[in-house]
Amino acid sequence: LVAKRSPDHRTTFECGGVEFGGKLVPVMAGPNTVENEELIVKTAIGIKKAGAHFLRGGAFKPLTFPYRSAKFFETREKGLEWLQVAKKETGLPVVTEVMEISKIDLVAKNCDMLQIGTRNMQNYPLLTEVGKTGMPVMLKRGFGNSLRDWLMAAEYIALEHDRLNQPTKIVLCERGVVAPHTHRATSRFLLDLQVIPAAQEITHLPIMSDPSHATFWQPWVKSMMLASIAAGADGLMLEVHPDPKNAAVDPLQCSSLEQFDDIMKACRPVAEAI
Ligand code: PEP
Repeated sequence: LVAKRSPDHRTTFECGGVEFGGKLVPVMAGPNTVENEELIVKTAIGIKKAGAHFLRGGAFKPLTFPYRSAKFFETREKGLEWLQVAKKETGLPVVTEVMEISKIDLVAKNCDMLQIGTRNMQNYPLLTEVGKTGMPVMLKRGFGNSLRDWLMAAEYIALEHDRLNQPTKIVLCERGVVAPHTHRATSRFLLDLQVIPAAQEITHLPIMSDPSHATFWQPWVKSMMLASIAAGADGLMLEVHPDPKNAAVDPLQCSSLEQFDDIMKACRPVAEAI
C-alpha cells in the first residue's frame, strides 16, 4: 500500500509555503461558508494576525438541509473568487472543498489544497479524479468510517500521486465520528482523539484534527484543540467567523476572531512543548 507506514518514513510536503508532517502544526481557520467578499477578507486578516497558516472556507457546500434561503446558501464560483481576493490580501494559502468531478478543475484553479469532506470520503470516482490533479489533498474522515476505511480511501488518491511519479501529498483530518452517546442534545459527533496515534502507527500520512465540526459547540473547541496537539496532531482546522451569531452555517461551533486569538495563544506553548 502506498499509504502504509515504513519504519523510517513519514510524509512531509509543502503546500502554499506551509510544511505538513514536519515540526510545525499548521492551523487552518475560516468560516464554514464563504458568505461574501467582505467577510472572508476580514476573517483572513484577523486569523493571519493571530497566527493561522491557512484560510479555510466552503464555496461549494454539502449542506444537510436542501432548502436554500437568504440566510442559508452556497456562493459557488463567486465564493472561490472571494477566497482568491482574501489570499491576495493576506498571502494565506487556501483550502476549500470539492464535491463533484465536474468542478475539480475550477476548484483546483482557485485553491492550494483540495478538501474532500466527510460525506465524500468514500466517493471513489471523485477521489481518483482528485488524485489525478496531483494537488495536495485534505481527506476528512467519514463520520461513520473506521480507520481502515479511511486509509483505503486515502489509498485511492495516493495511487494516483504515485502514478504521476510524485510524492504523496495527502493530509488526513479527523472531524468527529457518530457515537452512541454525545454530551449535548445538539452534538452529533465525538472527536476521536485516539485515532491520531492509531493512524500514526500505521500510515506515513500526516493527520489533523477539526474540533469545530466534531464538537459542534464552540465552548469545547479550545480544550479539544489543546487535546489534539497533545495527542500528536500534525495540524488543526477550526471554524472562525467575525460574527458567529450571524454565521450563515454552524453558528454554534464557530469561534470569533477574539476567541481564535485566545485559542492560538493557548495552543502555541503546547505545540512547542511536544
Ligand atoms: C467543512 O469543513 O466545511 C465541512 C463541511 O466539514 P465535514 O465534511 O467534516 O462535515
